[in-house]
Amino acid sequence: MTIYDPAPGPRVIGPTLPSYDELMGCIRCGRCLPVCPTYQETQLETFSPRGRLNLLRAVEDGRLAITAGLEDHLYHCLDCRACNTVCPPGVRIGELIVRGRVAVEEKRPRPFLIRFLLRHMLTGAARAEILSRPLRILQALRLDRLGAALLGRLPGVGPRLRQLVEFAPRIGRPLRPELPLVTPAAREQRHRVAFFLGCMMNVALPDVSRATVRVLAAAGCQVITPAGQACCAAPQDDQAMLTLSREMARRNIAVFEPLLDQVEAIVSDCAGCSAALAEYAEWLHDDLAWAERARRFSAKVCDVTAWLDAIWPDDLPLRHGAVVATYHDPCHLANLQNVRSQPRRLLSRIAGLELRPLPDSHPVRCCGSAGIYNLTHTPMALTLLDRKMDDVAATGATLLVSANPGCLLQLEWGCRRSGQPWGRRQGQQVAVKHVVQVLDESL
Ligand code: SF4
Ligand code: SF4
Repeated sequence: MTIYDPAPGPRVIGPTLPSYDELMGCIRCGRCLPVCPTYQETQLETFSPRGRLNLLRAVEDGRLAITAGLEDHLYHCLDCRACNTVCPPGVRIGELIVRGRVAVEEKRPRPFLIRFLLRHMLTGAARAEILSRPLRILQALRLDRLGAALLGRLPGVGPRLRQLVEFAPRIGRPLRPELPLVTPAAREQRHRVAFFLGCMMNVALPDVSRATVRVLAAAGCQVITPAGQACCAAPQDDQAMLTLSREMARRNIAVFEPLLDQVEAIVSDCAGCSAALAEYAEWLHDDLAWAERARRFSAKVCDVTAWLDAIWPDDLPLRHGAVVATYHDPCHLANLQNVRSQPRRLLSRIAGLELRPLPDSHPVRCCGSAGIYNLTHTPMALTLLDRKMDDVAATGATLLVSANPGCLLQLEWGCRRSGQPWGRRQGQQVAVKHVVQVLDESL
């Protein structure tokens, strides 16, 4: 399929789209190429940050039409923003690419299933619970793997189905229905925080969020969890559903607004959520009615790892059985929020835990999770995952720690793959945990 088409294409600039000046900000130095995971794998300019900006410029110049090829190149970007961290003139490449998708969306809408799920099902923790219930029942009856084994023989869809079952997280008992509005501090109260419960955390990793609330309480925080929270809207923003993502941002701001003067921070244990919540100020900066409200909201957002590092009481010791661990930086924590040293500092407080570095930690090399990327672009996601698991194996660690549900599920998939006959590192046993789980175990 050809990308280049001399016919003038629709504009890619506009109020919510990249401005031409921003696109022109690239000086073509090439610094972003070696840090871009998709360029590393393909060595193709059109799979690089600079190449994607050039494609958007070509559309704006009328040298390129919006075709399936252009769409493919823009959506092959992981939105990991490693490129942003090295660009000398400070071009916000990742944001420009994501906003460029909005122009594509008008002409080439995303697949119906993605739009349906993001518009009607993955809009908040309560709906995600409904969506995940059938899978939870199938898993409890062990019918998911049986079904995949039988259907996996079907030509065409079989291998894909088996892959999806292999990836699917174990759905647990959701946390939302049992989480009280106020969880008291477990020691002398020193802080009060609001807790943002991510939809994925609630259904796929509820025990991690249970640990988060316990650890916050143990560190002297009163935790307030307001009802009525929407999804953080990161997936909707990533898939160019701008109107919907802004609506959901307004809903979350309205839910937390009455608490803003009473809490020191709005804390999340999902790096993707905390990155999106912190971006609401930018998302709504041109909305007269909401810009100031969004600015106040975003100013309070703090990832749980940064918050705990800032307030951890010196008289609260941490001890773990002897273990060698390594830490994988979620892109949305390290590249977007510049939270790198805080989780490491927290882990280094734990007696008995030896922390070994992973290669390519600055800027972070994505594990291939990237929201729903691992489902929409599975071959590239698996290539990146296998590289990451090779890096993990080289550290000799048996505990792999991270701070984002997408990364945790992806890395768990990597461990499961390594135990399969088609895996590349047979016999390796690595436990994958969130930073707060390791802290919780070490209290
Ligand atoms: S956001 Fe990540 S994948 Fe996308 S262009 Fe930048 S470095 Fe490459
Ligand atoms: S680092 Fe920035 S200026 Fe240099 S090529 Fe990449 S986008 Fe352009």
